[in-house]
Amino acid sequence: MDKVFDTDVKFVPGVGEARAQLLDRELGIRTVGDLIRHYPHRYIDRTRIYPIAEVTEAAGLSFVQLRARLTGVSYAGEGRKRRFTAYAQDASGAAELVWFHGVKWIEKRVEVGREYVVFGRPTFYRGELRMAHPELETVEQALSRRAESGMQGIYPSTEKLGNVLGAKGMYRIVCNAWALVRDRIADPLPDALRTRYGLVPLREALYNIHFPQSQQALAAAQYRLKFDELLGVQLNIQARRTERLARNDGFLFNRVGPLFNAFYNEKLPFPLTGAQKRVVREIRRDTVTGFQMNRLLQGDVGSGKTLVALLSMLLAVDNGYQACMMAPTEILARQHFATVCRMLSGLPVGVAILTGASKARERREALEGIASGQVRILIGTHALIEERVQFADLGLVVIDEQHRFGVEQRARLWTKNARPPHILVMTATPIPRTLAMTLYGDLDVSVIDELPPGRRPIRTVRYTDAARLRLFGFMREQIARGRQVYVVYPLIKESEAMDYKDLTDGYEAISRDFPPPQYVTAICHGKMKPADKEESMRQFKQGEAHILVATSVIEVGVDVPNATVMVIESAERFGLSQLHQLRGRVGRGGEQSYCILMSGEKLSRESRARLEAMCETSDGFRLAELDLKLRGAGDINGTQQSGVALDLKIANPTADVQVLTLTREAAAALLEADPALADPAHRGLAELRSRYAAGEARDFSKIS
Ligand code: ADP
Ligand code: MG
Repeated sequence: MDKVFDTDVKFVPGVGEARAQLLDRELGIRTVGDLIRHYPHRYIDRTRIYPIAEVTEAAGLSFVQLRARLTGVSYAGEGRKRRFTAYAQDASGAAELVWFHGVKWIEKRVEVGREYVVFGRPTFYRGELRMAHPELETVEQALSRRAESGMQGIYPSTEKLGNVLGAKGMYRIVCNAWALVRDRIADPLPDALRTRYGLVPLREALYNIHFPQSQQALAAAQYRLKFDELLGVQLNIQARRTERLARNDGFLFNRVGPLFNAFYNEKLPFPLTGAQKRVVREIRRDTVTGFQMNRLLQGDVGSGKTLVALLSMLLAVDNGYQACMMAPTEILARQHFATVCRMLSGLPVGVAILTGASKARERREALEGIASGQVRILIGTHALIEERVQFADLGLVVIDEQHRFGVEQRARLWTKNARPPHILVMTATPIPRTLAMTLYGDLDVSVIDELPPGRRPIRTVRYTDAARLRLFGFMREQIARGRQVYVVYPLIKESEAMDYKDLTDGYEAISRDFPPPQYVTAICHGKMKPADKEESMRQFKQGEAHILVATSVIEVGVDVPNATVMVIESAERFGLSQLHQLRGRVGRGGEQSYCILMSGEKLSRESRARLEAMCETSDGFRLAELDLKLRGAGDINGTQQSGVALDLKIANPTADVQVLTLTREAAAALLEADPALADPAHRGLAELRSRYAAGEARDFSKIS
C-alpha cells in the first residue's frame, strides 16, 4: 500500500493533534489507513425528512432528519453547566434541541424564525422529542449539499468521541481522508482472482463503503472488503498448516503401555461415555501419524473433559514423554492436581504442581523434577510458561479452558521445545463451527456431545429482587436436604470497588439470614490471599460450608457434585457463555439441580433475551450461536471474549460463512501455486497476509 496510508491521522484536514489523540484512544485510529478502514456500521437516508410527529419512541429510529423552524431559545444553568435549548417546530409537532456544551458556538449560529434541517439521534423526555447536540444546516445549505445517493454512513464511535466529533464531523474527516488516498489505492488482488470471484476493485469498494452510490454498489463493496479480510486470515492459517504438515516431526505415541492400561483397568472410577471413548481414539490416531497434533476438544461443562486429558497424558508418559496441563486459575489447577493425584494413587508416575502461588518447596520440587524427568505430569497455571520451567522431554500439552489464556502466553509455551509437543486444547465455551474454522483453521476439532449418564437437566428460573425471601427459603430447604449453594456476583473491572461492595453486602445479608453455627457461609473472590481462597474452596468442597459466596472466579471448572443450587446475582450483567459456565457448576451429581438468575426489574431487550435463553435451553452450542446472534453481525466481541482478537473490521466469520468458504478455497489455490507468495504479482497478497498475521500466534502450529 501507498505510504499515505501510514501517515499520522492528525494530518487529515479537520483532525489535528487533539482529535488525533482522541481517535487513537477511543477507536485505535492512528493513521490515515486506519481511518479509511473505519467503516460505517450503518447507513441512513439523508434524503428523508421525518415529520416530528412520526418520530416517536415506539418508532425506534436511531437517527432522524427533521425540517423545522426555530420558535425560540432559552438558557438554563450557570458557567460550565450552562445549557442552551432551541425550540423547533414543523407542521406536525414540536421538538427541543439541547446543547450542554459549545453553547457559545451554537448560540451565535442559530437564528430564531429560520428554518433548519436538523439531524441527530432522537431521545425522549416525558414523551417529547428532544435531540442533544444535533447538527443544524440551513435549508439552503442542505439543498446545496451534494446529493449523491442520499445514503450517509454512520460510523462506530464512542460517547467521548461523539461529544467532540458528531456523526457529521466523523463523516467530514473521512471525506478528507478519502481525498488524500483516492488516487493511491493499489489493489492487492490479482485481476484473475477478482474476475474469478466477482470482486470489484478495492478503490471502488472503499469509495462505496463510505459513500455508497447505490444499494448494489454498497453490497459489492461489502463483499469485496469482507473477502479481503477473510482471505488475509485464511492465507495465514493455511500457510501454517502446510508448514506444520511439512515438518513431519511429531512425537510418536505408538504404544498403549502399562500406565494407561493399569489406570484404565484398575482405577477408572466409571465407564467412559461413548463420546469420551471416541475422543480418546481420535487423539490416539493423531499421535501415531508423525505429525504434530493440534486438537480442539469442545465439550459442554460437565461432559468429562478432564478424564480425556488424563488418559491422553498417560499415553504420553507411556511413550516416554512428559505431559503438562495448564489451567486458567489457581483454584482450577489445584483441583486438577488433586483429581489427578487421587486417580493415579498407587501408580508409579511422578505428578507435580506449579502455580504462581507455589511456595518455595513446591516450586523447587516441580522445577527439579521436570528438568530431571522424574516428574512426568505437571499441572499448573500460566506459571508453567515462565522461563525457568525446563522440560526434559515434553510431548503433550493440555490446555484447559483455553479462552482464558492470552495468545502470547500460549505461544510461549510452545517455544520450550525444539520439537513441537502435541497440543490438546479443551474448551467448554463452544465456538460455533464456522467461527472455529476461521479462527482455528489449522485445528482439528473433537466434540464430546454426551453427558455422563444419570445427569438431570438443571432447572433454570429467573427471579427479581422482590423474590429474595422466597429464594432464601428455597436455599434453606436445599441445605436441609444436605445440599450446597453457590451465590455468585458479577465483577466488572471498571467498577471494581462497587462490585466488591455488592459482594460483601450480599455476604453480610446471607450471613444474617443463615446464621452460624447452624449455617456456614464461605466467601471467595479475587482480592483474597491465595491461601484464604483455597481455604474457602476447601471448606466448600468438603461440605463444611453450606454456601459459597463468590465472584465469577469459580466460573470455570470447579467441581463440587453436592452443590445443587447456583444463584447468580445481577445475572443481566453476565454474558451468555459466562452464565452457561456458571450454571455448569451445578448438576454434577445425581440430584436435581437449580440455577436461579437474579436480576433487576428493568432489563434491556438484550439482557432479557439472554436470561430467557438460559431458562429455555441448556445446550451450550445453541447458546453460543444465540449469543453471537444477539450481539449482532459485525460485533466481534464474541471472538474477543474467547481470547481471539482478529482485526476484522467488516467480516463476521459466523455470519459470512459463504465468503469464508470462498476465501478458504481461494487461499488454498493461491498457496498451492505460490506457497511463499513470492511472485511479484502476489505482492499485494503477501501484504494482505502479513496484515492478518496477528492470527499467527493464535495458530497452534506456530511452535518453535
Ligand atoms: P468438564 O468437561 O466440565 O471439565 P469434568 O471433567 O470436570 O467436566 O467432569 C465432570 C464430572 O463428571 C466430574 O465429577 C467427573 O468425575 C464426572 N465424570 C467424568 N466422566 C464421567 C463418566 N464417564 N461417567 C460418570 N461421571 C463422569
Ligand atoms: Mg473442566
